[in-house]
Amino acid sequence: MMNKYVIGGNWKMNLGITQSISTAEEMIKKLKNVKNTEIFIAPSYTSLVDLGELFKGTNIHLAAQNMSEYDSGAYTGEVSAGMIKSTGSTYVIIGHSERRTLFGENNSVLSRKAHLAIEAGLKVIFCCGEVLPERETGKHFEVVRKQLSEGIFDFNAMATEDIVIAYEPVWAIGTGLTATPDQAQEMHSYIRSLIEKKYGKKVSDAMSILYGGSCKPSNAAEIFAKPDVDGGLIGGASLTVEDFCAIVDSV
Ligand code: PEP
Repeated sequence: MMNKYVIGGNWKMNLGITQSISTAEEMIKKLKNVKNTEIFIAPSYTSLVDLGELFKGTNIHLAAQNMSEYDSGAYTGEVSAGMIKSTGSTYVIIGHSERRTLFGENNSVLSRKAHLAIEAGLKVIFCCGEVLPERETGKHFEVVRKQLSEGIFDFNAMATEDIVIAYEPVWAIGTGLTATPDQAQEMHSYIRSLIEKKYGKKVSDAMSILYGGSCKPSNAAEIFAKPDVDGGLIGGASLTVEDFCAIVDSV
């Protein structure tokens, strides 16, 4: 099995319901002929139901940006994996750096989320990546290794179709700085080697590993051209239909 190209848009805390619907409608029109790339959009929780209806029967998948670490019960304000699944979502993003740094989510919380998501029938976009001082002191490989091993390496076996990994160097997220294609390739190939060691070559060869961090139409093609980069997770540029579609087209 070949790893597949995946490009996802993470809208973060932007776009209300009306704007989400109009943006999604335009994307559906512009992207309807894309065949070999799996596309997903992660709107805010409040737009999941409407976009779930809109994306039905199209080539765009729905994703949630986060989920609860609990299954159900007295957790005011939380949204469970099962609830997300019921909106028609295919994916859930887990471990985005903003969740790790701003909301204190550690690897054990993220591991619980990953298990609950897969049990609920969702696919996980698992994010990892180092902050700038870690890269500058040469600790980036070790940081990513720990995030993966504590986050997703305690499954008995891994079904590749259940997990997509997104390498997102934190210093490149929303900053306009991008990892060079070589820096991305170096880390992606390291991540693939970790997956191989843990789950075997068949799984590692088939795993989609996305790059995220200030991807835009002008830099996407050269990053995606690297052999271990299987697409991208797009933040800011996914809010603009033209930019997101250009990035999808650059695969
Ligand atoms: C992200 O938040 O996942 C991301 C990659 O953001 P941006 O593209 O804005 O850097």
